[in-house]
Amino acid sequence: MDENINRTATIAQALAHPLRLRILELLREQGAYVMHLTATLQRPQANISQHLAILREAGLVQDEREGMTVVYRVVDPRIFDVIEQIQQLDLVRRESTEWAPQRAHHGRGMRCRCPRCRGDYAQAR
Ligand SMILES: [Zn+2]
Repeated sequence: MDENINRTATIAQALAHPLRLRILELLREQGAYVMHLTATLQRPQANISQHLAILREAGLVQDEREGMTVVYRVVDPRIFDVIEQIQQLDLVRRESTEWAPQRAHHGRGMRCRCPRCRGDYAQAR
């Protein structure tokens, strides 16, 4: 079978989970630390790592070591055009699933100790 078809299926499979779509959204602006994803999505790290691995193997995200921790980033932001195209289908709209971009950083009241959020707390004081 055509290699392009296989790659397309791999990418479609990587997108085919609500949690992975949420992860991508959280990585959208500037990437995020794994601990930021676990804190925001309220999932165990093992679970988040599993989903990140699927996204990485599909080539959608890449990991970068930053000091003691790892930051994940979206490789090609055009993937969000694809997701938005799917969201525009009447099929989806009927279900009224809003693709509401979340802030890369969560609001008050949520506890995340990733380096960026720690910085936000420091600034807020
Ligand atoms: Zn954070």
